[in-house]
Amino acid sequence: MFSAQNTTLFLSPRDVARLLQQQSMATTLLGMATYIEEDFLRWKSFDKSPRVANHSPDGVIELMPIADASTYTFKYVNGHPKNTARGLPTVMAFGVLADVATGVPLLISELTLTTALRTAATSAVAARALARPDSRVMALIGNGAQSEFQALAFHHLLGIEEIRIYDLDPAASVKLMRNLHNNPDAVGLRLDLCDSIALAVRGADIVTTITADKTNATIITPEMLEPGMHINGVGGDCPGKTEIHPDVLRAAKVFVEYEPQTRIEGDLQHLPAEFAVTELWQVLNAQKTGRDNASQVTLFDSVGFAMEDFSALRYVFDQAQALRLGSTIDLIPQLADPKNLYQLVRPDPI
Ligand code: NAD
Repeated sequence: MFSAQNTTLFLSPRDVARLLQQQSMATTLLGMATYIEEDFLRWKSFDKSPRVANHSPDGVIELMPIADASTYTFKYVNGHPKNTARGLPTVMAFGVLADVATGVPLLISELTLTTALRTAATSAVAARALARPDSRVMALIGNGAQSEFQALAFHHLLGIEEIRIYDLDPAASVKLMRNLHNNPDAVGLRLDLCDSIALAVRGADIVTTITADKTNATIITPEMLEPGMHINGVGGDCPGKTEIHPDVLRAAKVFVEYEPQTRIEGDLQHLPAEFAVTELWQVLNAQKTGRDNASQVTLFDSVGFAMEDFSALRYVFDQAQALRLGSTIDLIPQLADPKNLYQLVRPDPI
């Protein structure tokens, strides 16, 4: 896949935005979803571990490493819900893709925009496997930085035609409506602004929760459930930061990315270890069933797993090379004699 080299491609947020402009949002989400699905289907070829988290009173900083036999990746990502009040995003990320055979970092990329794309693509991959195929209406609770990407992924990858939106902050919902209004990526998609979570959720086929608050919130409560709903729970992704009432999980068939990590970080953290869940890869490769019938409530307790970033880094690397995006940087020293690192300090000894 990669030639022997020791140069590193750098992709900035502007480069990834250019990628989206050159090949369209729908193509990018579809391409990323294909890479994510391919990697879920070869689950056992990955060396996996839960991410390493450093917690502080207002947030978390996490490192997410993963590798297969030829490629290693990691993501650095934070989650600081109060950041937006300081003019900073809640989630910021970057990552590296390296060659396992030599350890050369082949790509260093922004992953803030890319995380929004990969999270939306993963949500859509899960919903394609778990939601009722006739789903057309989605509730989208939490209208911050991730929300447009979720809306567009469900529109393009699942055929969602109507999205009922709600956020505690009305300005966030207005921003979402403005961004998707008269937007060629959102043709055929209707947005309805709702006055409450209950009104947004009523009659929805799919409910996406993507809020940010460092608290054990209960955005979705049992009385909101309707037969056949699929819940895409994305914002509960850290100890002490959840969105779904535990009785909603008890009433649903629950699916996770990587069980050892979700037990710590997901809405699942409120349930005992014996509560049964299914890993998504087992449904995708037909080892286990997803939804058992049209009236069952399914719930994807998403926390974001390193493999999805592996897929996303692979995808942006391939597309950037094909479209000649990004710039080459000198991250690793270029040495005439690889044993003579000191030549960088004193190039011309007498
Ligand atoms: P953001 O801060 O830009 O937006 C979050 C929005 O949620 C804000 O507009 C806020 O007003 C709203 N909100 C908070 N509490 C609410 C409530 N009780 N009801 C309704 N709205 C509420 O954050 P973001 O970048 O959009 O990320 C959203 C969440 O998704 C974060 O918690 C983040 O950690 C999580 N996330 C998860 C994954 C994953 O893979 N599972 C990936 C990326 C982000």
